[in-house]
Amino acid sequence: MALPYDDPDLAHAQLTVLARQIPMLFIILTTNALALAATHIDTAPPFLTIVMPALFCLLCAHRVRFWHRFSLTSVDGAGALRFLRTITRVVAILGLVFTGWSLALYPYGDSYAHCHVAFYMSITVVSCILCLTQHRSAALLLTFLVLIPFTIFFLITENLVLIAMVGNVAIVTWGLIIIMLRNNRSFAKLVVAQRNAQRLSNENLRLAQQDGLTGLPNRRRFMAELDDTLAAAQQSGACFAVGMIDLDRFKAVNDSYGHGAGDRLLEQIGARLATIAGADRFIARLGGDEFGAILKDTASEAAILAFGARLQALLDAPFALNDTALATIGCSIGVATFPQTGQTAEDLFERADYALYDGKQHRKGEIVLFSQALETEIRTSSQIEQALRNADLERELWLAFQPIVDATTNAVPGFESLARWQSPELGAVSPGVFIPIAEHAQLINHITLVLFGKYLDAVRLLPAHTIVSFNLSAHNLSSRATMAKIQEMLRGSGVSPSRVSFEITETALLRDFDLAAETIETLHAMGASIALDDFGAGFSSLGYVHRLKLDKIKIDRSFVSNIENSETAPKIIRSLIDLCRNLEVVCVVEGVETPAQLALLLSLGAKLIQGYLFAKPMRLEAVTAWYESRNRLALPLYPDRLCG
Ligand code: C2E
Ligand code: CA
Ligand code: CA
Repeated sequence: MALPYDDPDLAHAQLTVLARQIPMLFIILTTNALALAATHIDTAPPFLTIVMPALFCLLCAHRVRFWHRFSLTSVDGAGALRFLRTITRVVAILGLVFTGWSLALYPYGDSYAHCHVAFYMSITVVSCILCLTQHRSAALLLTFLVLIPFTIFFLITENLVLIAMVGNVAIVTWGLIIIMLRNNRSFAKLVVAQRNAQRLSNENLRLAQQDGLTGLPNRRRFMAELDDTLAAAQQSGACFAVGMIDLDRFKAVNDSYGHGAGDRLLEQIGARLATIAGADRFIARLGGDEFGAILKDTASEAAILAFGARLQALLDAPFALNDTALATIGCSIGVATFPQTGQTAEDLFERADYALYDGKQHRKGEIVLFSQALETEIRTSSQIEQALRNADLERELWLAFQPIVDATTNAVPGFESLARWQSPELGAVSPGVFIPIAEHAQLINHITLVLFGKYLDAVRLLPAHTIVSFNLSAHNLSSRATMAKIQEMLRGSGVSPSRVSFEITETALLRDFDLAAETIETLHAMGASIALDDFGAGFSSLGYVHRLKLDKIKIDRSFVSNIENSETAPKIIRSLIDLCRNLEVVCVVEGVETPAQLALLLSLGAKLIQGYLFAKPMRLEAVTAWYESRNRLALPLYPDRLCG
């Protein structure tokens, strides 16, 4: 009897089976009753043989109709429990009525009819047990309500046949009850096992759709939600927006404070983002420091911008990294809208991502809505990508060289090599354009190796005392195969590694710091030097210079271009120059175009200068002529002629 009878799920399962069996029970009971009434019709009073059976028939028809129309969908677990209790009560009353009625017929019949009453009661017990198997208490109650009066009544008759029947029925009932209880227990176990399996699979489903760290929905769930939202919007004609959110300074925190702090920060970010998520504002973590949002039923630019501003405000407020450190993270957001800027989930996702990418490049910390201009840009990019894929890189790529001048002595200690692409289809394409596209299209490693071959050839021809810079993309540094090939090419070239300076950007370090550090160490060990390029253009930290023992920093052109009108730029440049001197790091200032800028920089302590003022990037063949023009101007000094 220790079955979980108050379990709502079990009650529901019981009711499901009973709803099919109870009508059958009513039909059996009534048919049995009609048969019994028929055998007594001539002997018993009409009340017992006509009125009562008619009432049974009416009742039976009513209940069969009820159960036929009964729908389980509107009944919950608690409702099912109430139903079961009602069934027990109804069954008990009916049991008493039927038993009383059949025993009341007994005195009116002959011996056959007496046997019929006994048979009727036995068959009723068996039918009840079978039809109510899933409702143990009702079956037992009914069995006893019929069986006890039946046994007592027939024992009193002292008729041997009837007493034998009682004994038989008692044994059969006992057997049936045992079987019923076993079935009943198996049924309950099955229901509980099914429920547990369902819960487990629900839990698995939930986990498979949830980001473990932040508790937000994950990328898979986001894509499914995007598909659903799109399908619903296509049907109803609604508008919606898809946003890609990228944290601006997360990687810096991760690198400086460790992955543990990074994880805790992501948890806090997840908790903040969850506060603005809702039925029509879906927010998920897509991976790393990227999040996605779906704004349902949102068409207006103002509403999108307002939501973006709320999001940014949340992420702009400082986060506690530990007891003493706070960090402001900030984010960039790219948005695409349905139906205006994309018709498929892939289009919308890609366009929001492109808007984000564009924001990251040109408008960090802003909300960028995918626009017609970006659409044109995508088209141009894919044209360039196609041309790059079809290009004969050995023939079409070449290197330009821009001198780096010591402005205090006019010596030329080095050059920077800069990629140039002359496409037969598109003409000259600037590296500022094709390098990012090559990175995006994963063509950059191949391109770098082609350029490095040309670079090694050129270094042999440039004056022997010069150090020549080669630009590495972030993608190169995180490709072991490419970096191994570069080292192999350098070793086999006969060029002294001391003449090779690799320029890397902070982005390369942020991508995979450990791998970058490892590569830098190998390059250092070979004797090459490493420069941190574009210093000051993004999030810049001298910490890297120190930690990675970098040899050179190149102060970004953006500092120089407004140096004359800025109060802070000269101060920053001066302190950078001082810091570099203390750390014994070489400092090159890039992008110097005017004598006035040069004069100001010299007064701040600058020494090594690269810029149009001295020379624009030139073909290798033009370098000798450039040296000669300087000599004509009586500028110094070195045996500056091309070698070989
Ligand atoms: P970068 O490495 O910062 O290169 C310096 C850029 O500034 C060059 O542009 C150069 O021509 C330009 N520049 C130098 N002095 C001045 C000046 O006084 N005024 C102005 N307005 N600009 C000046 P370029 O050659 O167009 O290259 C652009 C960017 O493309 C490079 O920036 C670098 O990030 C990338 N790049 C160029 N060559 C390569 C390469 O071989 N590999 C990789 N991975 N990237 C490259
Ligand atoms: Ca560079
Ligand atoms: Ca630079």
